Amino acid sequence: MTATVQLTGMNQPELASFMETLSEPAYRGRQLFAALQHRRLRSFDEITDLPKDLRARLSEVAQAATLKVESQYLSNDGTRRYLMKTHDGLPVETVFIPEERRDTICFSSQSGCPLQCTFCLTAQLGLLRSLTAGEIVEQIQIALNDAYGTGVKPPRGTNLVAMGAGEPLLNLDQLLKALRVMTDPQGLHIVPNRVTVSTAGVVPRILELATISDRPHLAISLAAPTDELRNELMPINKKWPLEELLSACKFFEKTLKPGERLTFEYVMLEGVNDSDEQARQLANLLNRHNIRSKVNLIPHNAADPLPYRPSSDAVVERFKNILESKGVHTYVRRPRGRDIFAACGQLAARQTTLNTRVVTNLVGAS
Ligand code: SF4
Repeated sequence: MTATVQLTGMNQPELASFMETLSEPAYRGRQLFAALQHRRLRSFDEITDLPKDLRARLSEVAQAATLKVESQYLSNDGTRRYLMKTHDGLPVETVFIPEERRDTICFSSQSGCPLQCTFCLTAQLGLLRSLTAGEIVEQIQIALNDAYGTGVKPPRGTNLVAMGAGEPLLNLDQLLKALRVMTDPQGLHIVPNRVTVSTAGVVPRILELATISDRPHLAISLAAPTDELRNELMPINKKWPLEELLSACKFFEKTLKPGERLTFEYVMLEGVNDSDEQARQLANLLNRHNIRSKVNLIPHNAADPLPYRPSSDAVVERFKNILESKGVHTYVRRPRGRDIFAACGQLAARQTTLNTRVVTNLVGAS
């Protein structure tokens, strides 16, 4: 039999059924789940609480890990970027961002991306393919094992954000499957309400997400206050323009929990979308729809050959003040990992040694 069954994306009942196909009792499935998720082991050889002959049989029919780490980069600010390859040779990127009170792992939902946002380097790859639930889970395992050691419980909470490569809502089934595996209490210690999915605005999927009780938080990338400019920066807007998008957000608002806000992300591009007038337009747009929300201003991360520059700190501050003067909750997101192409919009499978320390170059890291 060929070794094609990928076990990392399976939940406990699926692993129990899988073990039954090998004529093993269901509890072996729970053991396997604990080994793969709780202990974050990435090869059957390491699962020494399973009998040796069972491990050998598993190696013949299944895989405990498929992603291989090709390179990993460490930023001056502690951010780590992992460039990995799928079994079929496609790039996957993940970023680990340590912070004082918690860590954030920014993972990818697709290899490349089909959307054509003009300020994003990933867009230039096009869509290579959507990732499987297992490939999504593996990204988190690899980052946690590297940061803390195999299976070591993270000392701080871990935030997950689906803001790496890809449009997560175009891979919603696999994404939700992965999130359910990771938030299993016997799993990776991920807390459901610390997961945020960011979309460019796939309206039907926003409406669908609103009907899912264990959904993650939602962030919408806006980038422009008018259809005219958004059509240019985010061509998805031609399909689902701002009015439709914000109506979907209004519908989604009904599902917000106490204290939860919808996030609007606004990348700040010098001389393109950062004028006082555009700040007022943005505030008016959001106020007109009156959605319980906040705005994250994200200074653009310049990367050749993108034709944009980041807005200056003073302009970002001014933009923020205008939004706040009109009652819009506004925050500025500090860029992390710019020097290693790990920041928002910079993920494009770049191998670079510019301003970086390549920590290691290893295959099958865990
Ligand atoms: S910003 Fe997100 S949705 Fe747009 S092209 Fe980049 S990865 Fe895709």
